[in-house]
Amino acid sequence: MPGAYLRVKCGDCENEQIVFEKAASLVGCAVCGTTLATPTGGKAEIEHEIVETVEAR
Ligand SMILES: [Zn+2]
Repeated sequence: MPGAYLRVKCGDCENEQIVFEKAASLVGCAVCGTTLATPTGGKAEIEHEIVETVEAR
């Protein structure tokens, strides 16, 4: 499986956006710029609330 997508809720501004589970680069909130996911080489480290997992198709 190539990896899932996660719906992550920004803890700072409550924006929700889709983040790739294995993000290879830093993912920032599109609204306030807060870091949502940090790449680790495998699964990204999500620093905010994961609302749901969206399975890849
Ligand atoms: Zn935000």
